[in-house]
Amino acid sequence: AAVVGKRVKSRRKWMRVVALLNEFEEACATPVTRLRQVVDAMAVEMHAGLASEGGSKLKMLLTSVDKLPNGSEKGIYYALHLGGTNFRVLRVQLGGRTSGIIRHDVERKPIPEDLMTSTSEDLFDFIATSLKEFVEKEDNKDSDCFSVRRRELGFTFSFPVKQTSVSSGILMKWTKGFLIRDMVGKDVCECLQQAFTKKGLAMHVAALVNDTVGTLALGHYNDEDTVAAVIIGTGTNACYLERADAIIKSQGLPTSSGGMVVNMEWGNFWSSHLPRTSYDIELDAESPNPNDQGFEKMISGMYLGEIMRRVILRMSQESDILGPVSSSLRETFALRTPLMAAMHEDESPDLFKVARILNEVLGIPDVPLKVRKLVVNICDVVTQRAARLAAAGIVGILKKIGRDGSGGVASSRSKITSTKLRRSVVAVEGGLYANYRIFREYLNEAVAEILGEECAPFVVLNPTEDGAGIGAALLAATYSSSDTVDT
Ligand code: BGC
Ligand code: MG
Repeated sequence: AAVVGKRVKSRRKWMRVVALLNEFEEACATPVTRLRQVVDAMAVEMHAGLASEGGSKLKMLLTSVDKLPNGSEKGIYYALHLGGTNFRVLRVQLGGRTSGIIRHDVERKPIPEDLMTSTSEDLFDFIATSLKEFVEKEDNKDSDCFSVRRRELGFTFSFPVKQTSVSSGILMKWTKGFLIRDMVGKDVCECLQQAFTKKGLAMHVAALVNDTVGTLALGHYNDEDTVAAVIIGTGTNACYLERADAIIKSQGLPTSSGGMVVNMEWGNFWSSHLPRTSYDIELDAESPNPNDQGFEKMISGMYLGEIMRRVILRMSQESDILGPVSSSLRETFALRTPLMAAMHEDESPDLFKVARILNEVLGIPDVPLKVRKLVVNICDVVTQRAARLAAAGIVGILKKIGRDGSGGVASSRSKITSTKLRRSVVAVEGGLYANYRIFREYLNEAVAEILGEECAPFVVLNPTEDGAGIGAALLAATYSSSDTVDT
């Protein structure tokens, strides 16, 4: 009788865990009807954010970038890219229309974690030192290369910035775990330029751009049908080319091209149509930026592993099929998204890798096969929702600019042109999209599913690498005074 009783008990515990998974899966469901509601909400919020300052949770920031590189840029330009998990220094050699990008060198370093919550001085000293070392290294290689011109730099700063010109702007708030309070409200380029002066580095910041804007610049440089850029990495965001007359909040905005790049800051998008769960609510409440970046917290690499950890923790608390609750399982951000991807994509026999990661990272030993499978299921639910919501965001942009084949919510004037389907390219960058195959596949599939058979073939998602940085160098070339125009 005791054996039977034990078996019944363990069966009941297993059923409880399965019920939790089913509940979670239901709460995360993204059928295409729901995704279309998200598409519409995105387009509506874009309109609202363009209509007035503070008109929407979507900030729709004007970037001052009113022309994109056109291929004529020549010379050597630098870029710094700060904003995710890695920090990058780049040097890009441009050869004008005939040669394009002749070469680019990139150096990547992880950002020391303590700098993310230190002082602006510490952070910018680190950046300036890294750049100085990079420049000195190459100075030793070819010494006469730089006597010709002063060095121009594009600074990719992947946070919400209120631009005051193409080469200056004020930090509005931090995201993605950065929290340096004395920086908020300060001019980002002034801080950088001060650090350069301190280190004796002769470098002029010609462009200050968001990572999405850099990515759009490179995307457009490579393919003129590129209309938008999306980052899905540690954080998530998008920018796109908007007509000046659609930017109601700055009527009469002078632009050289009749358009401007708008940094949406879509990480902060919110809609009642988003499938939110109790885990999302708790994650938000315990994050360094509660009530902020709600869309980002469902989509980007900083958070997916953490959502998953919360689900496993809950299961572990309500049933002992995962053994006693371990201390690492209780630790916020203990499960990083790359490891979640590794479990999701585990092809080893008996999900050996899943078991190893659960043991080594979360302190859960000896997980039976059926529980390993359940864990892979959780990965799938979290990732599928993330990818499909990002896809809805992308189609929302296409809808706003009349390129989703629907006629859009735009003015009657754009309706006439939007009925004709045109090729539209969206540049996509970021570690989550680049390195997590299943995420990428879900996203690509969902974009096609939402658009439908007729329109989908006209929309191309184009992955770029280091576009955020290379694009900033291109924009430095476009906007620097010493820019050489080819004849
Ligand atoms: C920031 C954006 C950035 C995105 C991707 C977000 O957290 O607010 O400015 O583009 O991350 O790096
Ligand atoms: Mg980034």
